[in-house]
Amino acid sequence: MSIDPDAFRQMFAASEPQASPESEEPPMREEFIEPPIRFEEPPLSPQEIDAAAADELLKIAAADEQALQKLRKEQRSKDTFVITCPKGCQIRVKESHRGRSGKCPRCQSEFIVPKKPSPKPSPKPPE
Ligand SMILES: [Zn+2]
Repeated sequence: MSIDPDAFRQMFAASEPQASPESEEPPMREEFIEPPIRFEEPPLSPQEIDAAAADELLKIAAADEQALQKLRKEQRSKDTFVITCPKGCQIRVKESHRGRSGKCPRCQSEFIVPKKPSPKPSPKPPE
């Protein structure tokens, strides 16, 4: 046997960390400690902050888009109103068609667009 003692020590040291082949069950330890509860959010890393900001921007953009669509819808419903044709179809007609006759696009019944809007039932009755 002619092993250099230094080389032997290095081999031993190298195999040291991954020692103990798991032929046996690891001993159950009773000193399992739950991680301490954190009351503060861990500080965000710069990348996470960027992602959060982008997320926030997306939300804002989506809200803007929704507001815009709502506005458009309101404008559209301002120029138009819904009437009921003689056969009961709901038809949306333009304000400018008031007092004119037309045909129901669904059942082809002729009707006259009333000049005054029919009173709408308020969606929320006053309490
Ligand atoms: Zn109709």
